[in-house]
Amino acid sequence: MLGQLGEGAKLLAGGQSLIPLLKLRFANPAHLVDLNFIADTSFIKENDGALRFGAMTRHAEIERSALARKIPVLHDCAAGIADVQVRNRGTIGGSLAEADPSGDWANALITLDTTVHCLGPNGARKVVLKDFILDAYTTGLAHDELVTDVEVKVPPKGSAGAYLAFKRAAPVYPTASTAVQLTMEGEICKDAAIALGCVGLTAIRAGEAEAALRGKSLNDATIAAAAEAARSAADPHADMRGSADYKRELTAALVKRAIQIAMRRAGGEKIEGTHLYA
Ligand SMILES: Cc1cc2nc3c(=O)[nH]c(=O)nc-3n(C[C@H](O)[C@H](O)[C@H](O)COP(=O)(O)OP(=O)(O)OC[C@H]3O[C@@H](n4cnc5c(N)ncnc54)[C@H](O)[C@@H]3O)c2cc1C
Repeated sequence: MLGQLGEGAKLLAGGQSLIPLLKLRFANPAHLVDLNFIADTSFIKENDGALRFGAMTRHAEIERSALARKIPVLHDCAAGIADVQVRNRGTIGGSLAEADPSGDWANALITLDTTVHCLGPNGARKVVLKDFILDAYTTGLAHDELVTDVEVKVPPKGSAGAYLAFKRAAPVYPTASTAVQLTMEGEICKDAAIALGCVGLTAIRAGEAEAALRGKSLNDATIAAAAEAARSAADPHADMRGSADYKRELTAALVKRAIQIAMRRAGGEKIEGTHLYA
């Protein structure tokens, strides 16, 4: 249908980004192609050491999924998106396709080994998440392509993460957010992935913050060094959610807290991650 209707056609998934844009007259597509009528597009499966999420899987389904809890970052993220109404309608595929700089999924999934499965008239293709989102509200999808599913490798033993967002209230986008994934060997951090959300045009991988932890024993000093490096990596703009300096400060605090939760989870503790509300 996208091929037949041409560039004026737009896919409708949960409508939680698209409908507000239509109401504000920021989007004015000639046709809506409703994915809600297509069977078997909402699922959570485990296969070959990876979790697969159908593009139409709602945030709330991921929040409730025992399989998704295998990767704590996924549960943390799904459970904190907006409010129950939005989580019941919004989808993981729609969220990645929207590429909103404040959206939670891209920021959480970029710390994991994530592949986006796409389908178009020329067949199926797989795109690593970091190459899928090109800029704010911009992906590498062609106008006649869609996301069919999202594949996330289950991290190895000793690896655990945390996703934390700071919000003014539940039904709004975060002011700042962070995802941290640590692979620990005893006290030593073998590998680290740290992503920062809402402080750039896309989720930012904080390479220097990761380097501050990699190969090191994690203690107050190394964690503080990583948080400071994350503050420098953040590139926020001032808006109604706060000044640029305020968002940098928040980023450093969130990174510190997420590292501490990820460390404890990697050590086997079961900790419920909770977002922070002003
Ligand atoms: C009040 C409110 C608060 C919100 N707060 C947050 C928040 O805190 N964090 C957060 O992450 N999100 C938040 N959202 C957005 C929500 O998570 C959306 O669900 C998500 O951004 C888009 O998913 P959707 O399924 O609703 O997509 P839709 O709105 O239906 O579509 C969004 C875009 O993606 C395209 N699209 C959809 N599915 C596909 C597909 N399978 N393949 C290719 N293109 C596709 C559509 O054409 C459209 O351009 C909020 C929304 C609202 C209304």
